[in-house]
Amino acid sequence: MQTVTVLGATGSIGCNTLDVINRHPEKYRTFAITGNGQLELLMQQAQKCSPRFVVVADEARYKEACTLATEYNITAEILCGAKALEDVSCAAEIDTVMAAIVGAAGLLPTLAAVKAGKKVLLANKEALVMSGALFIDAATQSGAEILPIDSEHNAIFQCLPQGYEYGELEKAGISKILLTGSGGPFRERELSSFNAITIDEASSHPNWSMGRKITIDSATMMNKGLEFIEACWLFGASPDDIQVVVHPQSFIHSMVQYVDGSVIAQLGNPDMRTPIAYGLAYPSRIDAGVKPLDFSDMANFSFETPCFTRYPNLKLAIDACREGQAATTRLNAANEIAVASFLEGKIGFTDIAVVNEETLNKMEPVTVSSIQQILEQDTAARAAADQVIRGKFTC
Ligand code: NAD
Ligand code: MG
Repeated sequence: MQTVTVLGATGSIGCNTLDVINRHPEKYRTFAITGNGQLELLMQQAQKCSPRFVVVADEARYKEACTLATEYNITAEILCGAKALEDVSCAAEIDTVMAAIVGAAGLLPTLAAVKAGKKVLLANKEALVMSGALFIDAATQSGAEILPIDSEHNAIFQCLPQGYEYGELEKAGISKILLTGSGGPFRERELSSFNAITIDEASSHPNWSMGRKITIDSATMMNKGLEFIEACWLFGASPDDIQVVVHPQSFIHSMVQYVDGSVIAQLGNPDMRTPIAYGLAYPSRIDAGVKPLDFSDMANFSFETPCFTRYPNLKLAIDACREGQAATTRLNAANEIAVASFLEGKIGFTDIAVVNEETLNKMEPVTVSSIQQILEQDTAARAAADQVIRGKFTC
């Protein structure tokens, strides 16, 4: 029996995780579930999976959560705030943490799980983008097992040879990691009309159903940029080892190319329950409730090279990856501000990349070597991005 904490239970990944867990009550027990808003959903989830703790991230909503818990007859203890998120991620009783909070808010609880040596199912790519080396060092020291949940990284993980040693691509005979991405909803849209892209248009992904922020990141391909950085840290690869391939149908989730000319790919329907189930059961396999691929239904399989004029955020992320930790932390922070501003209607779609680039250009190079310094860079980049937005896009 595995005891699991699900951080970000009310989100897209969180709901899919509970769906897989609920299919296998004999294998998984839920210790804690957490959410920021959507308290009713959180209570409904608690009714179904009976955790010991329900954590509400937003302290201001603690009383409301307690009242709801009584209405829903929840016996779990209700906790709130940042410290509680960390406590349920490193508790002695748990084996596994699903890290599925979105954005920088996931960094500290995910790191708490890593430092406590847990099995960490990593969906929250932003945590790794922000803290790369420190995150990996902490895992090495504690013995935490990091299993990638991002579908591309989960695919790469499945395509690596057994016993792959971190960073030893050459020794393993690997010539390239091929990171696939659909190209999002604007792959074929006239570039001249990008200025007119609406929030609704950017919020509908052709293949995947996901949370709001990652859906916008997929439309700008910043998501692939963050995944590029994530892949470097997860597998000990250098930027030159990774190639982004646009594959609009999203059946191949990524590939590994070997020196003998072989390419190993992982395929499946675009359903996050596959990588979630793989992470939960690794190295075994369990039913995830996912429809099997029907090859008679897959007439088209196409591939393209991403165009940086169409996807300037992808280039910014690859450049930041080459530059180092401060740059990737700043880019992640600026992007969170820019995407939130786009979703509030304050800036246009193409302005997201402008805000990101100008924020990076405004800031002096520094080196970061502690979580404190990383959090300082995150705060400073958010302020700089806000300033860019106020100065440029509001009257
Ligand atoms: P989502 O927006 O659907 O859910 C986010 C979750 O985080 C919710 O439970 C929310 O309450 C919680 N949360 C938000 N702000 C918080 C805060 N300040 N403090 C604590 N909790 C907070 O997002 P999602 O699509 O499920 O994505 C979650 C993570 O997984 C992201 O990092 C995303 O990049 C990654 N991911 C998602 C998918 C996908 O298919 N959705 C695929 C790959 C990776
Ligand atoms: Mg992905």
